[in-house]
Amino acid sequence: MRKLLCITAHPDDEAGAFGGALLVYHERGVETFVVCMTAGTAARNRGTAQSPDELAELRRAEFAASCRLLGVTRGEVLDYPDSKLDRVDLFQAVCDLALRIRQIRPHIILTFGPDGGLTGHVDHAMAGIFATLAFEWAGRPDRCPEQLEQNLKPHRVQKLYYHTADFHLPDRQPISQPTVTARIEIGAARFEKKVEAFRQHTTQAPLFERVRKNLGQRLGTVEMYHLAASSSPRDAKSETDLFEDVVDD
Ligand SMILES: [Zn+2]
Repeated sequence: MRKLLCITAHPDDEAGAFGGALLVYHERGVETFVVCMTAGTAARNRGTAQSPDELAELRRAEFAASCRLLGVTRGEVLDYPDSKLDRVDLFQAVCDLALRIRQIRPHIILTFGPDGGLTGHVDHAMAGIFATLAFEWAGRPDRCPEQLEQNLKPHRVQKLYYHTADFHLPDRQPISQPTVTARIEIGAARFEKKVEAFRQHTTQAPLFERVRKNLGQRLGTVEMYHLAASSSPRDAKSETDLFEDVVDD
């Protein structure tokens, strides 16, 4: 069984940034997993929540609903502080992600690049940096070795992709994006399903129009990715399938 792991920062990233790829690969029989690092409690839009704990509970439920629509096999929301991923302990965060990688044993990982994805959010950037180190460390017996005493084995993920795009959002901070190396055509029907998954995040309803505009007018039915690393050395090439050259185990 082929497996894909997506590592994100906030509930709604799985839909807004990666929803198309999650749908495409679910339909192709790939087991898909999402690990989201925060419960998104720093959001300006808070729905009916009266406290951070209530907002966390709402956003975890919205994340679960979005994952169901996207056909995600298993989604998990970790407890790292929203809007402060640049202040958390790097070793702890990377080992937490390496543990998930060693448990799930995915063939490929999708995450954000250090630019912070289209929006340039610092949490996106940090989630991607932690995920990049975890991609490397999970395969090495000398990193987070205490995990290997609990019946886990090192796991080498074959490919690491960053979310990217071939345009900027005009109303955001300047960012320098990873080069586009893969274009995944998701089609109009899956685009609508991706928007529908995003709309499960009802606490974020004031963002719906802005996001739809960003996604619809510029990205349309294509999601773009950057192959940042792979377990077998290779030259760069343009891909239309993130599982190209992936070897089944
Ligand atoms: Zn986000």
